[in-house]
Amino acid sequence: MGSECTMTPLLGPLPYHSDAEKLKFIEDMTMNTDKVQAKVLSEILTQNLNTEYLKRFDITPDTDRLAFKSKVPVVTYDDLKPDIQRIANGDRSPILSSHPISEFLTSSGTSAGERKLMPTIEQELDRRQLLYSLLTPVMNLYVPGLDKGKGLYFLFVKSETKMPGGLTARPVLTSYYKSEHFRTRPFDPFNVYTSPISAILCPDAFQSMYSQMLCGLYDCRQVLRVGAVFASGLLRAIRFLQLHWQELAHDIATGTLSDKITDITVRESLAGIIHPDTELSKFISDQCSINDWSKIIPRIWPNTKYLDVIVTGAMAQYIPTLDYYSGGLPTACTMYASSECYFGLNLRPMSDPSQVSYTIMPNMAYFEFIPTNSNKAELIDLADVKIGEEYELVVTTYAGLYRYMVGDILHCTGYHNSAPQFKFIRRKNVLLSIESDKTDEAELQAAVSRASIVLQKHCDTSIIEYTSYADTKEIPGHYVIYWELLMKKPGRWPEKEVMEKCCLEMEEEMNAVYRQSRVADGSIGPLEIRVVKQGTFEELMDYAIARGASINQYKVPRCVSFAPIMELLDSRVVSSYFSTACPKWTPNSSGN
Ligand code: AMP
Repeated sequence: MGSECTMTPLLGPLPYHSDAEKLKFIEDMTMNTDKVQAKVLSEILTQNLNTEYLKRFDITPDTDRLAFKSKVPVVTYDDLKPDIQRIANGDRSPILSSHPISEFLTSSGTSAGERKLMPTIEQELDRRQLLYSLLTPVMNLYVPGLDKGKGLYFLFVKSETKMPGGLTARPVLTSYYKSEHFRTRPFDPFNVYTSPISAILCPDAFQSMYSQMLCGLYDCRQVLRVGAVFASGLLRAIRFLQLHWQELAHDIATGTLSDKITDITVRESLAGIIHPDTELSKFISDQCSINDWSKIIPRIWPNTKYLDVIVTGAMAQYIPTLDYYSGGLPTACTMYASSECYFGLNLRPMSDPSQVSYTIMPNMAYFEFIPTNSNKAELIDLADVKIGEEYELVVTTYAGLYRYMVGDILHCTGYHNSAPQFKFIRRKNVLLSIESDKTDEAELQAAVSRASIVLQKHCDTSIIEYTSYADTKEIPGHYVIYWELLMKKPGRWPEKEVMEKCCLEMEEEMNAVYRQSRVADGSIGPLEIRVVKQGTFEELMDYAIARGASINQYKVPRCVSFAPIMELLDSRVVSSYFSTACPKWTPNSSGN
């Protein structure tokens, strides 16, 4: 697929003159993919020539793209960990980047149970901001009139820590919301939010959610779109409304603010918003007191044109629930990004979630692709990926990641001009995910092993087989682990307390992101163990073989989601147990 390839023109008649420049930028970038990529790589190498990392691989001012590819290895986080640790410990020499590292961004991906730390530089904020600035002009092509109302977005910051060398470590969105770029952005009639900045920046998750919800309710007639970053976040907001609508309606009726809101800045900024409105309070009470919560979003925010949340990748599991609460409103997945680098945007944001493809913007970083179904070691350039093929994404960034494997598997679905578009397929090696947590097979195995020690010790029972399932039927979702047990003393079932301890032991073994979601955010519910009848896993194998699996190659799936398998497992459950406490987590212990 060469750079001359042109498909699916983006620009229709321009509804808003101010957007023309941004849309032209998208066209310019995507029409010159390979040229832009060459320029980006050359800029990154020139900027970072004096870094220890690039010197290690003998990168000189003459190194061209081919030489770069032959000299610099493709790496994972673990390869970079010693360098990253040095930076975290305070080494300010140019190790990865010639620009000073401004902070660490904590990825939801983990290494040895801890969040990955991505060094970043000041300049990257501008690049992220640039990508954000393209989203509204694209949306305006599809949804007119967004300047006639507001966006109800549930946005949150998370805790941050200081590394031993003094640098801050926090999630990329926390960094962005706290930045001048976000806090002091000029007024834009297309991006008026119902949430005051103090509510978004409030570090207490309850107070932040409560105040954002309250403002969203006051503005319910003006709201034109409802969103959060991920679908799981929006569903948590709906769950919050279910639990707290009476208190919210009371505040609205009386024009007072709940005592639970103790953050002074939040109280001050809400003072100008809160006023007694008995009619609105009654309206909210009427809507929320009905047992049937279907279509609650358009019932409370009747002018909502669409939901703005990511429902691709791991978030696809939430689509049916979102549809239920929204009455099938369109869902816009606008952007594809990570802590390492912001990648691109969806040029057709109103397309059905199953059809969403993201266009990687060639100016964001230098991108390469490892074909997943080829043994060839050669990596493909952005302008050369083939429609219909699946790839793993590799990035070289301005901040100092060189040929870094992000861990995302993408499928090329087409081109916009000469820039390929990708469907997000999955995250490599992720078995279970409720929100930003990502648990892989090794982590699950370690958790089961830890619990099995307890089981063995207390009742001489072992785990013959296990599998798992991310149950998101209720909000918050939770991990379900199915166990088939072998009791050394037949008929002597483990006591409830022992099984509950096993649940907690498994949670203690989970990575920092899981434990933070459980403890600080409450976005994952207590882990559940479902004990199944003896012989269940054999039945599972019989089922797979009947459907064509080879007996020799059959392996117990460590995670299940296929409905008939779920039905089989659930129909064999003899008992189930939940964690009765939270695992240990503190901001400092997690690297977050
Ligand atoms: P983090 O490093 O915690 O910021 O997480 C970034 C990861 O989230 C990406 O590498 C993807 O795996 C996932 N992700 C980000 N945006 C999307 C999207 N639009 N659709 C699906 N997955 C996404």
